[in-house]
Amino acid sequence: MEQTQVITEEQISNTQVQNESEFEDRNIRCVDCGENFIWTAGEQVFFHDKGLKNEPKRCKGCKQAKNERLAAIAAAQSSGVRQRIEVSVQCAQCGQQTTVPFYPSQGRPVYCRTCFLAARGVDSSAASA
Ligand SMILES: [Zn+2]
Ligand SMILES: [Zn+2]
Repeated sequence: MEQTQVITEEQISNTQVQNESEFEDRNIRCVDCGENFIWTAGEQVFFHDKGLKNEPKRCKGCKQAKNERLAAIAAAQSSGVRQRIEVSVQCAQCGQQTTVPFYPSQGRPVYCRTCFLAARGVDSSAASA
């Protein structure tokens, strides 16, 4: 009985050492906001246990924002009703607050209607000239 106990304790301590050496806190750069965030060893263990392969690309705030966008899109699709989406954004050209009928990706410029049409007008006239 005593021998069995000793072996079991050794196995447990070996497992703990392996887990600690395999996972350590890592710095990851968020693809949306560009800020570095910590992917903790504990979260990596959780990932490993769930069999997840893709490392997180976004910080917690951006991940939540992305989930909310996806949830809104999924809700619109599942209801079968075309919902009018209005997202409040700042125009990259004139800085005015405006709304757009889609969910803009982080890092991509969004323009108000006036600037959008003006940009298109310049493009088409340049192409025809
Ligand atoms: Zn972020
Ligand atoms: Zn504008």
